[in-house]
Amino acid sequence: MDDPLLELNKAGSEQPEARNSSDGARQRFVLGETGFNEVPRKYRKFYRKWQGEGDSLALNEVLCPVCLVVIRSSRELRVGDRVYCMPCMSRLIVTREDGILLAKVVY
Ligand SMILES: [Zn+2]
Repeated sequence: MDDPLLELNKAGSEQPEARNSSDGARQRFVLGETGFNEVPRKYRKFYRKWQGEGDSLALNEVLCPVCLVVIRSSRELRVGDRVYCMPCMSRLIVTREDGILLAKVVY
């Protein structure tokens, strides 16, 4: 697993900007070190701590409701995406609430 965003590659979305579907091309993000240290070093850039009120999420970020860690993808996240929260090992699906992307646990 190189990215918390699951199942996107399987769906054949790996030819970006090639298809002009209504879905549109996803914006890509370069992830930097966040100081998050609760997962192995290789995966640290995919997570960061939620700073609470005043913090905001980028297009490629979603908040894990279980452990309140922000999951970051190298691609823009959209409603319906499935992501994996490594710190609490939850499988999540992206939804939108109050204008921000929020993940819900998939059982
Ligand atoms: Zn979590």
